[in-house]
Amino acid sequence: MKITLYRSLPEPIRSLVRLTYSSLPFGIRMGRTYRETVKFLRSKEGYGLEEIEKWQLERLRKVISHAYDNVPGYRQLYDEAHVSPADLKSADDLKHFPFVTKEIIRDNLADFTARNIPAWKHLYRTTGGSTGIPFGFYLLQENIEREFAFLHSAWKRAGWKPGDSSAVLRGAFVGSEEKFWDYDPFLKDLRLSTYYLNEKTYSSYRAKLLTSRPTHLQAYPSAANLLAELIVKNGDSRQIHFSVLLLGSENLYSWQTAKISEAFPSSRIFSWYGHAEQVLFAPMCEKNRALHMDPFYGYGEILSDDGRECAIGESGELVGTSFWNTVTPFIRYRTMDIGRRGEMKCPDCGRPYQLLDSIEGRLQELIVTKSGRYISMTAINMHSDVFDNVRQFQFRQKESGKVTFCIVRKDQYGEEDTRKIRTELMKKLGDDMELEITFVESIQIPKSGKFRFLIQELPISYGDHDRPR
Ligand SMILES: [Zn+2]
Repeated sequence: MKITLYRSLPEPIRSLVRLTYSSLPFGIRMGRTYRETVKFLRSKEGYGLEEIEKWQLERLRKVISHAYDNVPGYRQLYDEAHVSPADLKSADDLKHFPFVTKEIIRDNLADFTARNIPAWKHLYRTTGGSTGIPFGFYLLQENIEREFAFLHSAWKRAGWKPGDSSAVLRGAFVGSEEKFWDYDPFLKDLRLSTYYLNEKTYSSYRAKLLTSRPTHLQAYPSAANLLAELIVKNGDSRQIHFSVLLLGSENLYSWQTAKISEAFPSSRIFSWYGHAEQVLFAPMCEKNRALHMDPFYGYGEILSDDGRECAIGESGELVGTSFWNTVTPFIRYRTMDIGRRGEMKCPDCGRPYQLLDSIEGRLQELIVTKSGRYISMTAINMHSDVFDNVRQFQFRQKESGKVTFCIVRKDQYGEEDTRKIRTELMKKLGDDMELEITFVESIQIPKSGKFRFLIQELPISYGDHDRPR
């Protein structure tokens, strides 16, 4: 029984399925590809740099050959660029192959779909609009199982175990104000609605968490931050306890980490970088907070706006090649995410993996100044006590050099707060920015559960990567 199929069944059949399957071991329930991938990843622990590079090159050759033979869009791109699979003699040669973008895949999906995989196997998946370019692509059931295997293998390093229960505050379940939770027996997930979590409903969420006592919390950072704020405000720190906080799918900002640690002082925070397209995956280390690009998931490049490989300490766009999606291959795919290159080896766990010092965020989460500088939301410290009387906030930008800071005020908010906030924000924004502060009644969390701290209406691009180098 596949998880996707299970969710589409009517409730009476679901309960029958639950009875049958909940007694099976976790690995069996998750599927064959899941089990194989867990085993595969275990066998790769301890690989040295040379072994990794050898494995990656073999895999890249397979991916490029498959795309050239079976995916007309890639065949055309490579013919036009005068490259072919034979040109890939080392991983470094990949830079001669053209990029693909979200627009290219969105506008030509049929051409970027492999001809040698029967259509009944294709699963259609859409990505949210956080990059400003919503689009869909195909993958296979095995990709879903493999994704869980990668994720769970990383979580295990943080202390999560197969079969552990979790509260889940993501976008998968919306519900209603009365029925704000749902239970997924496959994964032992207590799924809570992010959409309906607010001051009015907090006591019901609290009661549900205290009676169910899930071991971990899986959440979007913005949702965990919202729960943390409510917990702190109601003096419930330490009351609701999770062993590990598994925070992914959105950038985790330091001001959020501070608030979340205040609400859950004895919980471990574990985060990772990843996205719906399943091209790159960078989970945190078990020994420090650095993100490690998983070399068996996808091939990652970090490119400056003029197309160079970034040096250590430099930020650039993450460009990825998926090792596993054969239906809609992503090869040199521009993710529109910006990250800062770290060392090539982790000093604490010893893995020879590319480290990411930070994820600056999606391109659509950057503020653009008058002179064309980008300001990342990571640079703005929202945990300062200057914001104590702010209930909720959101930046909105419509023109370069000008940003609006929308505030939902707490009762005790006064003139002095506006002055302090302006001074604090201007320190981070700089002289080439104008700041407007406005008050709003409320800021709605979208149904997807992903909160956007910046509504960026400017089209943002990052350098000219159109030509292969
Ligand atoms: Zn490490």
